[in-house]
Amino acid sequence: MNIKNVESVIKPPHYHFVGDGFRVHNFIPAVVSMERMSPVILLDYGAKFYFSPTDKPRGVGVHPHRGFETVTIAYKGKVEHHDSTGAGGIIEEGDVQWMTAASGILHKEFHEKEWAKKGGDLQMVQLWVNLPAKDKMSAPKYQPITNSMMPKFLLQGNSGTVEIISGSYNSLQGPAHTFTPINLMNAKLNKNGKAEFSFPVSNNTFLLVIEGEIKVNQSTVATENDFVLMKNDGEIFNLEAINDSVILILSGEPINEPIASHGPFVMNTREEIVQAYNDFSSGKFGYLED
Ligand code: MN
Repeated sequence: MNIKNVESVIKPPHYHFVGDGFRVHNFIPAVVSMERMSPVILLDYGAKFYFSPTDKPRGVGVHPHRGFETVTIAYKGKVEHHDSTGAGGIIEEGDVQWMTAASGILHKEFHEKEWAKKGGDLQMVQLWVNLPAKDKMSAPKYQPITNSMMPKFLLQGNSGTVEIISGSYNSLQGPAHTFTPINLMNAKLNKNGKAEFSFPVSNNTFLLVIEGEIKVNQSTVATENDFVLMKNDGEIFNLEAINDSVILILSGEPINEPIASHGPFVMNTREEIVQAYNDFSSGKFGYLED
């Protein structure tokens, strides 16, 4: 086994708003390409930001997706979701929503009504996880993953815990079903806490520092809101918390297929993108009230 080294530490790029509710820094694909980070094709990071109280929840209205999954992780605040399959729910602090758009879905994403009335800090991550060609037109699905469903691995010596969303860590298995192998977890490290990770060398791997300040492989320092891109040169890396820290860790097996992406659709060919627009405008994605 070899060390997996750091390729680069990337500061958050300038933010943009998705609708009026999500103030996000786009790391993927704006800074790191879809091909480099496959199977992750988008990472919007909503760094901690205060939203003032309102009776009209902020967010993003009805829009379609096809060909991939959206994974929403709420660290602070509450996000409410509804989709055209009739599914919906509230993503509370610490929860994850894993939505498989696949053949096509309409959904809307807003701050939860009661939370919006009080206002507060929102901090969240949205990932788009690509699907292999054979699964792109499978049925849509919705996995609400509450924090209590995630197994927590207790690290040695009061170092903290690793909570597993998908894939595995030290033989503990996360609850989310994925189409391709994806390890997704939060390391919650106490000051001076340490954790070691091992993933296949060919996996694409990143860290996102949600809170605190860490050292990767004893040397590289990354602080809150930094994205750390790991090389594909080895399996093992370790983290050490300089302060109490929360780190989102993703390591996934790349999907080596052509990517054709336009707006909310990610397919394999231009023809499939045209088809997606045709199907959307002819109402094949179903119906969802504004
Ligand atoms: Mn969406």
